Amino acid sequence: LTGYFNLKSPHTVKDNMTPDNAGLMPRGPPIPLTLRIKTLTERLDAQATDLDRYTMLHSILETDATLYFGTILSDVRKFLPLVYTPTVGEACVNFSKIHTHQPKGIYLSKYDKGNIANVLRNWPFADQVKVICVTDGERILGLGDLGANGMGIPVGKLALYTALGGIEPEGTLPMHIDFGCNVDAVRDCPTYMGLRERRPDKNKPEEVAEYDAFMEEYFDAIAEVYGKDCMVQFEDFGNSNAFRFLEDFQDKHVCFNDDIQGTASVVLGGLIASLRITAAEAGGVGNLKDHTYVFLGAGEAGCGIASLIAEAIRDENPDMTSEDACSKIWLVDSKGLVTDQRDMDKLPSHKAPFAHELCFDVDGQDGPSCFTADDLEEAIKILKPSAIIGVSGQPQTFTKPIIEEMTKNHARPVIFSLSNPTSKSECTAEQAYEWSDGKAIFASGSPFGTVEFKGKKYTPAQGNNAYIFPGIGKGAIFSGATRLDSSDMICASRTLASLVPQSQLDTGACYPDLNKIRDVSVNIATDVALGQWARGTATKKATHADRNDLMKQIRNSMYHAKAKYQAVMKQYVVNDNDDAP
Ligand code: NAP
Ligand code: MN
Repeated sequence: LTGYFNLKSPHTVKDNMTPDNAGLMPRGPPIPLTLRIKTLTERLDAQATDLDRYTMLHSILETDATLYFGTILSDVRKFLPLVYTPTVGEACVNFSKIHTHQPKGIYLSKYDKGNIANVLRNWPFADQVKVICVTDGERILGLGDLGANGMGIPVGKLALYTALGGIEPEGTLPMHIDFGCNVDAVRDCPTYMGLRERRPDKNKPEEVAEYDAFMEEYFDAIAEVYGKDCMVQFEDFGNSNAFRFLEDFQDKHVCFNDDIQGTASVVLGGLIASLRITAAEAGGVGNLKDHTYVFLGAGEAGCGIASLIAEAIRDENPDMTSEDACSKIWLVDSKGLVTDQRDMDKLPSHKAPFAHELCFDVDGQDGPSCFTADDLEEAIKILKPSAIIGVSGQPQTFTKPIIEEMTKNHARPVIFSLSNPTSKSECTAEQAYEWSDGKAIFASGSPFGTVEFKGKKYTPAQGNNAYIFPGIGKGAIFSGATRLDSSDMICASRTLASLVPQSQLDTGACYPDLNKIRDVSVNIATDVALGQWARGTATKKATHADRNDLMKQIRNSMYHAKAKYQAVMKQYVVNDNDDAP
């Protein structure tokens, strides 16, 4: 399968048919890409496990990027779970065992301090890098600290930047920052490839300062080697580093954290779309500000979503204060409902805006008393939320009584069970539909199959970050963005919500079909770029006449597997009936 392509580099597809390597490739006529995709798909289908399929696809990526991306694009719904969640989780767990010695990206370690720029120059496509996805492996999906094995995540995310956002493969660079790993079993595995030491101690300021100083140099080095407009996506950092690095660098370099902001954007998009369903009910929720939201989980995802909802509410209602907007949102963490009864000195700053007073008069006699709730069920009974969002990593926590209570209080309860992978989901799609008598507006983090309930078919929506980040990245790169902030995230949410067809809403699903995701990316990229130009944060000159024209320009600038293939094959007869993606 690799015969026509350059085996030396992981990404570049070059015409190999030069006199120096004549005879190394077969001489017969070229095979249409569609046929090669079909053949590969059959081979993938014949594999025993998803991990085998993942390994096979990755060996293809290393030698024949065109076939890899062409295959993913031929059926995104089918292949997304193989190159990304849930299979990528299993791949990370086994990363040191399935690793091949093709470069996957850059591994930086804390011992590269003082020399980071030189290491960055070693990447074979250093002059072409446009987007970096970086992790330190501390919190991979819901799987915990995997250390250097976490490299599978940036590799997978960036494959989606190409497949869905149309960024050239050479423009993408996966990166792992190695500050150790705290899980003995990972570190002590004989095939582990990372540093065999523990991470900096979060309670020792000098150790935290060492990491901070490394990150300062890291961002300076990126600007120096790859340019000021090279975008950085933080991915799967541990909770405290994730919030701190984002705060430290979001005003200095074009970067964003997908676990905090990308998640927030995709969930906000689903909520905005669901308003089109709830608004149609008598007394239903028509505006973001009219929901009461309860989160199970108050970490990167929970607090990221909560803050973005509050910002979007204020954006729609400029007369509301930040406190007013936050008052619609409640958090439940591992200690129960977050209220102002908590020790506020110890409460992390990202939870503080949502630590409300919970005081009411129970019997109309002694005046109001203050309460809290020890668990979600109690909180639901008191607060009667119209939307619950599960981002706790705790499976089966949206129980039957909880969903029944939600359904009693609201005609169309919004139930987002977002914890990944599937085994961690707060409830299954089937449970949500069954316990709500088919009324739930349900979305999950990991994919669930179609559910049949009382003769009606429900296709559960997946609140996949992949709807958002490739489009934001494409828009940022196309406009030469120098900063990304919450207005870009809200912009992407609104565009996403506008693209959910009515037919989809009719089945209670609040996201577009996954197979339309490249179209979604083009639309998001267009609106993000427009926003960048409107705010004056873009460095590239706008050359479009109107939105449609810009959309066309963006679409035309996107990586296209078939076009790439045809360019390689140009000296041969290309089959005109080949309609590969
Ligand atoms: P995180 O930063 O570690 O936060 C986890 C939160 O869950 C913490 O607030 C923790 O409480 C809380 N928690 C833990 N056990 C709990 C329990 N028994 N009851 C109530 N709360 C509990 O992790 P994260 O990045 O937010 O991710 C959380 C989950 O969301 C993961 O499973 C991830 O896969 C999922 N996620 C999904 C999507 C998506 O679908 N698009 C995107 C991102 C994340 P404390 O604060 O008290 O420790
Ligand atoms: Mn992530």
